[in-house]
Amino acid sequence: MIKRSFIGLSKPRLEYGSLEDTPSFKQIPTSKEITLLSNSPFDKKKLLLKKKAVVKTGQKLLVYKESDEYVVSSVTGKVSSISSYIGDFGRSYTAIAIEVADDEEIDDEFKSAAGGSKDATLETVKNFLAFAPGNPPVKLFSDKNKSINTIVVCCADSDLLISTNQHVVKSDIDAIKNGISILKTATKINNIIMVASQSQMLKVSAIGEKVNQVNDTYPSALPHLIMKNILGKVVPAGKNPEDIGVCFISAEAVASIGNAFNSGQIPVTKIFTLVKKDGSKSLVSARIGTPASDIFKALNITLNENDRIIFGGPMTGSSVYSGDHPVQTDTDAIIVQDRDDIPVISDYPCTNCGDCVRVCPANIQVDMLVRLLEGGHYEEAADQYDLYSCIECGLCSYVCVSGMPIFQYIRSAKYELGRANTAEATNG
Ligand code: SF4
Ligand code: SF4
Repeated sequence: MIKRSFIGLSKPRLEYGSLEDTPSFKQIPTSKEITLLSNSPFDKKKLLLKKKAVVKTGQKLLVYKESDEYVVSSVTGKVSSISSYIGDFGRSYTAIAIEVADDEEIDDEFKSAAGGSKDATLETVKNFLAFAPGNPPVKLFSDKNKSINTIVVCCADSDLLISTNQHVVKSDIDAIKNGISILKTATKINNIIMVASQSQMLKVSAIGEKVNQVNDTYPSALPHLIMKNILGKVVPAGKNPEDIGVCFISAEAVASIGNAFNSGQIPVTKIFTLVKKDGSKSLVSARIGTPASDIFKALNITLNENDRIIFGGPMTGSSVYSGDHPVQTDTDAIIVQDRDDIPVISDYPCTNCGDCVRVCPANIQVDMLVRLLEGGHYEEAADQYDLYSCIECGLCSYVCVSGMPIFQYIRSAKYELGRANTAEATNG
């Protein structure tokens, strides 16, 4: 699947995977305990949700007082703990562990609030479906700073090896069609643009919306490149498509909305690709919150010391440090790498080969940028070498002959600068 260019390393040809490459499908049994991660930083004093609270499957759980942030329970059971969870770059989340009961009960609050598809309102979509599989970005539609006027539905998968959207398009096209109709009714936005790979064009066209074909080589399906190559709009540096009125949503997220209104239940199962140490792949369905270790157990994967677990695709995913890390609403892949196969992050210096510059779709002078980032000079990197123009494709790290962790430097720099800016704004 990954082919190097014949013309040196400058333009590697990385083809997106096809659903046919992931032949097996495995449904993971419900775990004894699941963990839901809320984006809110842990704050014991403001907790609204209590330990020992009894919850039903599909129940919306408000976590904090004076906050509308919520999670949706993917199981029936009892809250066993609420604690701090530290993610990438030291970011704090709230982890809600739920001990699963023997008998499942489905919560009916959404059903009562939703009514039928034709009655869909933005309030209902926003108040119940932000934690659905595929992570529907529903809050954007009522964000007064965004003024969304276009919805792009991505039927292609954005990173390599991932087949989630392809699977949903193949197996649940009616739910996508229903989801689009609900989005139109709820948001009053009729400008819907579908984006599909060549092999999906026929099926997606049947929905009846305008469909655009995305190239089958990475990173064509990343939002910034879809904006440029298909919508003909350049997203300004440091901004996202929603900042110029365009909301990206995955086919899986749209299907979640369609299925929720169709069945009266908030979907609680996530589809993702599991890549084993030998490179073989399975498409997996598991409740949101299932710990990775339970998935490995169900698929007979043994984890040894120093093996690596990556959540997300090979180009844009992040390593996690514990098998307890749970499946989240946006987990599209889990990759397990044997410790002997992990690419070595070397301490070789940059050789000035220029491959990172030639490969960068954002035309950044990456070799110069990395020098500043290595030294922790983040503001200079942003001012002088276009840090914020980076669209986070990871190609520079992929081609770097010195094995420099360029992409990690970039993400870490953006996170630190973001934190500093927020602190500055808060302190006036
Ligand atoms: S991760 Fe950023 S800097 Fe690196 S190649 Fe992609 S766009 Fe360029
Ligand atoms: S950072 Fe890596 S890819 Fe870029 S010029 Fe240096 S050695 Fe080459």
